[in-house]
Amino acid sequence: MLWRGRRQSDNIEDERSDSGGGFGGGLGGSPGQFRIPIGGRAGGGSSIILVILVVLAGWYFGFDPSQILGDGSGGLVPGGGQITDSSGSQDSTGAPASDEMKQFVATVLAETEDTWTGIFKASGLTYEDPKLVLFSGQIRSACGFASSAAGPFYCPGDHKVYLDMTFFQQLDQQFGASGEFARAYVIAHEVGHHVQNLTGIMQKFNQTRQSMGEAEANQMSVRIELQADCFAGVWAHYTAQKGILEQGDIESALNAAKQIGDDTLQKKMQGYVVPESFNHGTSAQRQTWLARGYKSGKLSDCDTFNNPV
Ligand SMILES: [Zn+2]
Repeated sequence: MLWRGRRQSDNIEDERSDSGGGFGGGLGGSPGQFRIPIGGRAGGGSSIILVILVVLAGWYFGFDPSQILGDGSGGLVPGGGQITDSSGSQDSTGAPASDEMKQFVATVLAETEDTWTGIFKASGLTYEDPKLVLFSGQIRSACGFASSAAGPFYCPGDHKVYLDMTFFQQLDQQFGASGEFARAYVIAHEVGHHVQNLTGIMQKFNQTRQSMGEAEANQMSVRIELQADCFAGVWAHYTAQKGILEQGDIESALNAAKQIGDDTLQKKMQGYVVPESFNHGTSAQRQTWLARGYKSGKLSDCDTFNNPV
């Protein structure tokens, strides 16, 4: 990805130097600050609204404000421990390359801001930029306390993406998903959850999930995750149109989607698969939905709730 020299987002909150493990600044805004732009805008007939209307159908349950959308594989890492460089030459912040990596993350975030602002605007809506919190080891968010072992996550309660950039090393070395655009896909997927939050899809997801049994809730989780993959693909579609993708970028993202599929991860981590426990989607599903969003660039093609997945 030709990212150098492009705009970097100023919505990065760097909590890595916080020796207290992120207790100081992680809370940020008040958990009560939900702003859902679509709430007051009924008109438009936009694809976003269509997606929401479709998603709304059949959902009527309670609300779980503590929902965290974690996207790592922390639960599958033996011991749940931090993955460290085998040579021991890198510290937990990813130094010395962390500064450049931070610039990369800030640039990808800026690209998502531009893309989603445009998509929302085309539908008569206003996109609210999310914050992206860089942390090291552990962090407290409006969704509670989290360890980096659980991977990157989005917290609907404070509209922030949380990322320990050492996950990128894990992605590369442990999961076999290398390449800049694999990392960009991870960020774009989390931003996809933010889009779900802004459009009300996530609230309905949380309401529905609360009243479900575990297996059924996992199936619903798969649908929300695949949609975030599809939204990441939509972002990649517009990014490609800017002419800043390089050969191999999309393949890199698709490979990442494959490597972090539930079946592939479970086989790798425990040697067998438990389909009922899948909550992000199989490798094939994740690749399919990422590719689908990338191919068309249309949100209407990302309705994972009313289509077979
Ligand atoms: Zn996710």
